[in-house]
Amino acid sequence: MKTIGLLGGMSWESTANYYKAINEGVKRQLGGFHSAKIALVSVDFAEIEKYQSLGHWDKAAECLVMASNAVEAAGADCLLICTNTMHKVADDIERSLSIPLIHIADATAETLKQNGVSKVGLLGTAFTMEQGFYKDRLTEKHNIDVVVPEPAQRKLVHDVIYKELVNGVVEDASREAYLATIDDLSRNGAQAVILGCTEIAMLVQQTDTKIPLYDTTQIHSDAAVCFALKTPESAE
Ligand code: GLU
Repeated sequence: MKTIGLLGGMSWESTANYYKAINEGVKRQLGGFHSAKIALVSVDFAEIEKYQSLGHWDKAAECLVMASNAVEAAGADCLLICTNTMHKVADDIERSLSIPLIHIADATAETLKQNGVSKVGLLGTAFTMEQGFYKDRLTEKHNIDVVVPEPAQRKLVHDVIYKELVNGVVEDASREAYLATIDDLSRNGAQAVILGCTEIAMLVQQTDTKIPLYDTTQIHSDAAVCFALKTPESAE
C-alpha cells in the first residue's frame, strides 16, 4: 500500500472528513484491521484565509509549497490538497514536488464523465465559482460546461462557508438556501451539481435533493485510495 499525503487544515473540519473517508475506503477494500497509510501536514487556516482575503496568493503559495514539501519528506507517495479553493496555487505546489499531485478538479471531472455529465453546476467559495482556475480546467481539459449561481446566491454560498461551515456550524436555514440554489442551477441546465468546497457535504447531502450531487471530499478521497491500492503488492 502506498502512503497518501494530505495537505490539510483548510479547514480542519473537512480534513477530518478526508481522514475518515480514506480510512473507510481502505478498510472497505482490504477488510480486517487494514487502515490507510497517511502523511498529514495541517496548516493554520487563519493564515491562509488572511492571504485569500487580501489577494496575496503568492504568499499563500509559498506557505503551501513549504507544507507540501514537508508532506513529501514525511514519506508520502502522492499529495492531495484538501481544499478546492487552494488549487488556485496547485501548479506552484506540483512544480515543487517529485511525487504526483492528485488534482481535485480532475478527479471530479473523471467521475462526472463516467456518469455522462457534460453540463454541471458548481458551488464553492467565490474564488472557486468566479475565477478561472477551477471552472476553466473543467471546461478546457475535460470538456464539461459549468454553470454557477447568480451573484446574490454566490455571496450567500461563500458566506455560509466562511461564517459557518469552516467553524463546524451547520444551520437548517443555510441548507434550505443551498437547496434553492441547487434547484436554480438545475433550471439553468445543470445535469448535476459539484459540491466544490470540501465542507459543503456537512450541510447538504444526496438525500436532500433529487439532483445528482458530486461531493469533492469523497471523490478526492476515493481517488487517493485507488492510487494507494492500485499496485499488486497493495495488501502488504
Ligand atoms: N475547504 C474549502 C474549499 O474546498 C474552503 C476553505 C478554503 O478556502 O480553503 O474550497
